[in-house]
Amino acid sequence: MKLSHRVAHRYLKARQDRELIAQANKIYKDLVQYITKTDISQMALTNKLEPVAVGRVYWDEVEGEGLPLVRFSKNTPHSNSDLSFIFHVGGTKTYMGTQNQSSYIGVGMRGYWVEGETLQDQILYVLKKERGDIIHEITHYLDYVRLRRGHQKAKDSYKTPEEDRGGYFNHPLELNAYFIQALSGITEDIEEQILFVGKGGRVNDHQVAVFSISEWLDQYGNNFSKFLKSFWVKAPRNFKTMLTPENKKRFEKRVYDTWDKLQRQMHQIKKELISSNDPAALLAF
Ligand SMILES: [Zn+2]
Repeated sequence: MKLSHRVAHRYLKARQDRELIAQANKIYKDLVQYITKTDISQMALTNKLEPVAVGRVYWDEVEGEGLPLVRFSKNTPHSNSDLSFIFHVGGTKTYMGTQNQSSYIGVGMRGYWVEGETLQDQILYVLKKERGDIIHEITHYLDYVRLRRGHQKAKDSYKTPEEDRGGYFNHPLELNAYFIQALSGITEDIEEQILFVGKGGRVNDHQVAVFSISEWLDQYGNNFSKFLKSFWVKAPRNFKTMLTPENKKRFEKRVYDTWDKLQRQMHQIKKELISSNDPAALLAF
């Protein structure tokens, strides 16, 4: 069967979306793991995180009153551009910025700050609560690395929400970041389970994965409108109301393409598991 150019293009886009989500999730997970394993308060005290450099480069960028606490540099596989995470105790915004070859994501912690808790616990809590926003900013970072000049060009027409609310939410860079933010919110778990279903994993991981796929198929397997509804639940309210009808339609097509790929893949996995007499599959399906 020969796919039309149009359909082939949509398939390619859906694959790119899933790859982008996988990359964003990986950076997010690495960050959580880094914070979990590192004695942050100790590092901040001993100045091992180059606070001078952080102050010089990032101070005043968005949150003038904020305190940059953690600098976490990360090399991505496709670029040596590094990414830092800065946590602002008094900040309220989550944002991404670039300077020279460096990128940084600032995370405001004010709304979540609790006196007496360890810094590590507070940061982990914010990361969990603000996962969607952080995936959003990581998407901006990945777009910046991926598009470079195109990103710069797109930035020229950028409007802040204060300047032009409709313009901000319907800007191509924001559309992509909000899209990936919402879609990753509903596909993150199942994408991980797909990895666990393969051979070589632990028996328990495999069994959980098979049951998760069975559950996903029950829920979404033949039900795109349910999947779409879950997608909109994950999209911030402001964004939903400001989206133009054309962009809303484009989004729904884009969600459909990912759903379509996922459900085909899941039905295929189910078929293969059953035909190989997989013990977990015999229980799950
Ligand atoms: Zn944004």
